[in-house]
Amino acid sequence: MKLGLPKESHADEKRVALIPANVTRLIKKNLQILVESGAGLAAGFSDQEYQEAGASITDRAEALGADIITLVNLKGEQFDEIKAKAKPEQLFIGMMDPLTHPENAATLAETGTSALALELVPRITRAQSMDILSSMATIAGYKAVLLAAHQAPRMFPMMMTAAGTLKPARAFIMGVGVAGLQACATAKRLGAVVEAYDIRPAAREQILSVGAKPVELDLETENTETKGGYAAEQSDDFIKRQQQAMANVLAQQDIVITTAAIPGRKAPVLITEAMVDAMKPGTIIVDLAAETGGNCELTQLDETVIHNGVTILGPSNVPGSAATHASQMYGTNIENLLKLIVDDEGQLQLDFEDEIVRDTVVAHQGEVVNARLRDLLA
Ligand code: NAD
Repeated sequence: MKLGLPKESHADEKRVALIPANVTRLIKKNLQILVESGAGLAAGFSDQEYQEAGASITDRAEALGADIITLVNLKGEQFDEIKAKAKPEQLFIGMMDPLTHPENAATLAETGTSALALELVPRITRAQSMDILSSMATIAGYKAVLLAAHQAPRMFPMMMTAAGTLKPARAFIMGVGVAGLQACATAKRLGAVVEAYDIRPAAREQILSVGAKPVELDLETENTETKGGYAAEQSDDFIKRQQQAMANVLAQQDIVITTAAIPGRKAPVLITEAMVDAMKPGTIIVDLAAETGGNCELTQLDETVIHNGVTILGPSNVPGSAATHASQMYGTNIENLLKLIVDDEGQLQLDFEDEIVRDTVVAHQGEVVNARLRDLLA
């Protein structure tokens, strides 16, 4: 079978879905790999490296015409191009934002094309090596701290100098999943005093494990975690009580990183305008939930907002800003998934008895086959 690797069409997307090291390993599966010329350049991988790994360098039409096509973005303008060109026997693999845009799975199903949404890889031990959400969140958490450090009017570590003692920065991480935990660890490594809060009680130990201090808000709620390990959506009353309790903690911080997300839902507002009013001038907020509405009421996507001396950043596609490592991790996740669904003769074998296949394939043989998406579309 032919495996296509097109160049991402969005000008701001520097990542690529497979790197040459993945090609070297995947051709052993008897796959013929077609790489669109320049596909890896922005991530630091030349055509020559792909060629040396065993791929053929092609044009876009040939890469998009393969049997299996791997992409970073199977959404946005690239999705529009694909839906117009897709053929029934093809399988597209990429990030589809499926819980927010289930209609895209339906559109591909109408063309008879198969699609696999990487965000739906189940959070089970066997699928960890295929989990792009964790890979990308790791990078986002790390980079968020660097963005904050770059903007901050102070340094992170305590320093005893001939010109006096400098106090360490105080950093507060709100939402401690994969990104938040990496943000805690990165801020700690830079020398900040780090505190963190998550709605899920299980996060407490993880916060302690990276040397940060959990903030307890004493807010009773029964249902904080779903079966898949994600945060459950909370009532308006809970969010209001959470905001009140949080205001005092926030007023003492220099750096705030927010990462709170509920899959398929708008991000919860954890920081209101009034809470920003009570913060110290010079504080930096990096809102990693900006793409899903933001955890801070004042966040503007891809803008720097300055409010009473507090700077609020709402960057999009933060993992893409570390494109080499993001592509390495993403490519390895896809490689592991391909090894599950392609046999040693290079033929596609979708075993719907397998939980990973069942959860991630969204469109197949003219149908939306994923139960969650079918519910959303009903
Ligand atoms: P996420 O990106 O969906 O959300 C980020 C964090 O925000 C979560 O920790 C969530 O609890 C928190 N949050 C949501 N609403 C909040 C609120 N109102 N106040 C404070 N915090 C709030 O989460 P994620 O990074 O994808 O990880 C979710 C969980 O899944 C974590 O426990 C992670 O360790 C676990 N996980 C398990 C596996 C696996 O077992 N294979 C893989 C990856 C992640």
